[in-house]
Amino acid sequence: MSKIVLKLTNIRKAYTDGKKTLEVVKGVDFSLVAGEVVALVGPSGAGKSTLLHMAALLDQQTSGTIEINGVQAGSLSDKERTLIRRKDIGFVYQFHLLMQEFSALENVIMPQLIAGKNESDAIKNAEKLLESVGLGARFNHRPSELSGGEQQRVAVARAIANDPCILLADEPTGNLDTKTSEIVFHEILELAKEKGIAAVIATHNPDLASRMHRTVHMVDGLILN
Ligand code: ADP
Repeated sequence: MSKIVLKLTNIRKAYTDGKKTLEVVKGVDFSLVAGEVVALVGPSGAGKSTLLHMAALLDQQTSGTIEINGVQAGSLSDKERTLIRRKDIGFVYQFHLLMQEFSALENVIMPQLIAGKNESDAIKNAEKLLESVGLGARFNHRPSELSGGEQQRVAVARAIANDPCILLADEPTGNLDTKTSEIVFHEILELAKEKGIAAVIATHNPDLASRMHRTVHMVDGLILN
């Protein structure tokens, strides 16, 4: 049987505002196996983004457990969660969130240096990744000098720069036109396949979802089976 790289068990998230509590994720169970690419679909407000942020250890769940590569990660200290996030998880946001004052290359180098890689290896790897997403001629461009699709391709290269085993993407092509979405999406799928990265990609686009291994539907804080 394939190895489970991400396992969410009875995950819940509630926000409290004064006396009112709003539960936005209501007990989700989900497993992702190595190399699998899953589409996460559902209406706006269903809780997809909240779920992905918790799975990426960017946000803390109210209850439930998160296992990453066999390690119970949901309840560790912030420092330990950061280390696991750096090593095992790549995240692509809907808005690229690149560092504006740095070049495309520097944006992909940076997370590798933070993770302790030496500079020349980090540069070589960043060049290779940018070339593989078709940006070999854009190394020194800053985000403001790149198109929306190009910026998102840099964000994809950055997300996988530390060779994560899990890639989580929150509507990564939501802001792009159809043709550009298609290109960026194709690159995510190709890279995941080539590097054996398991991925969960939230998308509103049924055509894109149909090209993944399976689709899970999220409605009103729950995954429908
Ligand atoms: P989706 O990604 O499916 O559109 P989200 O996870 O962004 O859904 O949001 C799910 C629900 O959680 C929404 O109703 C949203 O308003 C609510 N929500 C998200 N973040 C917060 C927050 N920080 N405080 C209160 N409510 C929030």
